[in-house]
Amino acid sequence: MPLPRTRGTALRHRLAELRGPDIAAKALDARALAALAANPGCKRRAILDGAGVNKAALASALGSPSVFGQSQFAFTRGNAFEAKVKADGGAELLRLVHEKLDRSAEPPAHARVPELTATGPEGRTARTALALREATETRGEWTLLDHPMLALDVAGSPAFLEPDAVVVHPDGSWTVVEIKSFPMLDGSADPAKVGAAARQAAVYVLALEQIAARLGDSDPAPRVRHRVLLVCPKDFSNLPTASAVDVRKQRAVTARQLARLTRIEDIADTLPAGTCFSPELPAADLTAAVEAVPATYAPECLSACELAFHCRARARASGAVTSLGRSVRAELGGLTTVEGVLSAARGESGDPDDPAVAALRRAARLRAEALGREAETLGNEAEALGHEAEALGTEAVAPCH
Ligand code: SF4
Repeated sequence: MPLPRTRGTALRHRLAELRGPDIAAKALDARALAALAANPGCKRRAILDGAGVNKAALASALGSPSVFGQSQFAFTRGNAFEAKVKADGGAELLRLVHEKLDRSAEPPAHARVPELTATGPEGRTARTALALREATETRGEWTLLDHPMLALDVAGSPAFLEPDAVVVHPDGSWTVVEIKSFPMLDGSADPAKVGAAARQAAVYVLALEQIAARLGDSDPAPRVRHRVLLVCPKDFSNLPTASAVDVRKQRAVTARQLARLTRIEDIADTLPAGTCFSPELPAADLTAAVEAVPATYAPECLSACELAFHCRARARASGAVTSLGRSVRAELGGLTTVEGVLSAARGESGDPDDPAVAALRRAARLRAEALGREAETLGNEAEALGHEAEALGTEAVAPCH
């Protein structure tokens, strides 16, 4: 639900202060949103993304630059492929949507491609919603929305998203189209990449459902199709091919995780006055600002968040068990540091009735027993070798007859 005007304005001002003077907000893309949803417990990422902070610039200013991102070559190749897919008013793209998702409809002889330009993300979002309504009301035609802009409420603050395309079918239903430059070989692509594309598309589906609800659909699900179209280069060529991907599971998981995010304004309220994440500030001030927000580091952050090297170093320095991975962390219950775990295992601290402490002590006992047996075996082997050496020595000194 949108914030009342005054609260919304106050929050926007507060987020602008956190970003730093005259620094434009970095738009959240669906990839970033999907990553945010994957770690809903991290308030640090939530506030930085909510305020539109450029995390890559922040990580560099902290002295821990991030290493991931798309190369310029991949970016250019991706843009060239997308232009090819959308050439001639999107004729090939619509043919693929018809073939993979809606064979019962009339083939798309031509399509409407509405103009979506407007000022600012809010203007573009409103223009997109209007185009979707018009296309939906004009039954019997295919409509291609090229780079529409969608808004999704994330932790009480709007995130603006730009899918590659949305197609309105003749029956008035909507399909998200994702165009990727990784190849589809013999009809299938790298599962990890397809999974990432499905998570992104699920974010767009959620945003479209919010528009459908505003347009008066009591149940937006039939309007927004949950099978999206993934378009990729065919084999090693530059020709487009496509596959329908069911994103129901990713949609449900992302919706659940986004609902778990702490509201941005609640996190902002806990920060000391004057907190600022501007990369222009000295590293020491920035470190203090970043450390003022709790984080939940996990090794998965390394492939999903620009601040991962910084957060990993801090987690390791404080001996936090989070750096060992989520599954280990979950097994350890209330034990949060490596030192605490070792001390509990040695019997020096911890409640013996705590299942985690009891399991650690059992494991420590078994390990000590195993090491003791190993030492005994080694001792026996050494003794046997000693006897053998002694026997050889005796043979060597025996007189020859
Ligand atoms: S790297 Fe840091 S800020 Fe980013 S999600 Fe992980 S813990 Fe949060």
